[in-house]
Amino acid sequence: MIRQYGWSDLLARAFEGHARAGHAPGRVVVQQRNGYGVITEEGELRAKLSGRLRHQAQEAGHPAVGDWVALSTNLAERTATIHAVLPRRTAFVRRAADSVQTPQVIAANIDLAFVVTSMNADLNPRRIERYLAAAWQSGARPVVVLTKSDLCIESGPQAAEIAALAPGCPVVMVSARQGLGLDALLAHLAPGETCVLIGSSGVGKSTLLNVLLGEQRMATQAIRESDDQGRHTTSHRQLVLLPGGSMIVDTPGVREVGLIDAEDGVGMVFDDIERLAETCRFNDCGHANEPGCAVRDALQSGTLDADRWAHFQKLGLELAAVEEKAERTARDAERRRQGGLQKVYRATKRNDRGPH
Ligand code: GDP
Ligand code: ZN
Repeated sequence: MIRQYGWSDLLARAFEGHARAGHAPGRVVVQQRNGYGVITEEGELRAKLSGRLRHQAQEAGHPAVGDWVALSTNLAERTATIHAVLPRRTAFVRRAADSVQTPQVIAANIDLAFVVTSMNADLNPRRIERYLAAAWQSGARPVVVLTKSDLCIESGPQAAEIAALAPGCPVVMVSARQGLGLDALLAHLAPGETCVLIGSSGVGKSTLLNVLLGEQRMATQAIRESDDQGRHTTSHRQLVLLPGGSMIVDTPGVREVGLIDAEDGVGMVFDDIERLAETCRFNDCGHANEPGCAVRDALQSGTLDADRWAHFQKLGLELAAVEEKAERTARDAERRRQGGLQKVYRATKRNDRGPH
């Protein structure tokens, strides 16, 4: 059962200590406010955090969808307790909206990120670069997906433009509506591997997901119907098996996983530019008028594409803007919190004086 979900010898070795403690392995397939759904050798169980994990201050240490966990199980009740989270190979992280301090894992152990963009819209290179950066940042390898190929007569130029943006990153074209290109897309995933779809809204992610899940969804429906007793035993999974033995994760927030904390990812996409900049004569070269600037030389000789350089600079500026906004949000939240405390304080004082 768990082999189907990507359990491997490597994981088994990482699990040895937990196995000795009498714990069983499982993979988180859904996270809800009041608990988790976990796939185990004994099927899907409802799971809660152990007291120790729950009281752990670091939210990032809490399990997320895709995580492998160590469990004690109660098979009679189909429940389990999560005692530990196995080290993650990759993680999509975002900071909680109300805080710049708390990173939140929104999906773990993702092998591949399909960066989805639509062929009928103008290509937005900067957007694609952001999503590529987010993918690299997570540790997953990106594949660009051009959707709605049925609406486009000529696909070559767009694919070429993307290939230039992301050297070495595969590009696939699909039409979810006509069912074209889906096999080529799935071919990027090995059995046991897990993917996500990321990209701006409207590019066709839901449609693609539904087509990919076609059979799976019907299977889920069949289960629901057969136990239609008012019991809601089947939860909506956020990690689902795909035809061919791979998996897809669709958790809240992962589709539009953004820019924050993406500097490292930017480095992965613009590796060549960063290496080039390191050869400038001055360490703090601004690549403007400094003598011995390798970047300007490369631009002049044409070995560095001017558009790509512009994108790189723009992305840097945007990252700074996003970080600044996050800090502002945190400051505002802190101010509101303080304001709230004062209000409570004043109300308490009024109450002390009694009703008037
Ligand atoms: P999402 O916001 O990325 O999840 O995008 P949706 O899946 O909701 O799709 C946005 C719109 O594009 C919808 O009106 C879809 O019907 C349409 N769409 C999605 N895939 C295709 C496709 O392959 N071909 C065509 N012609 N339209 C598509
Ligand atoms: Zn320089």
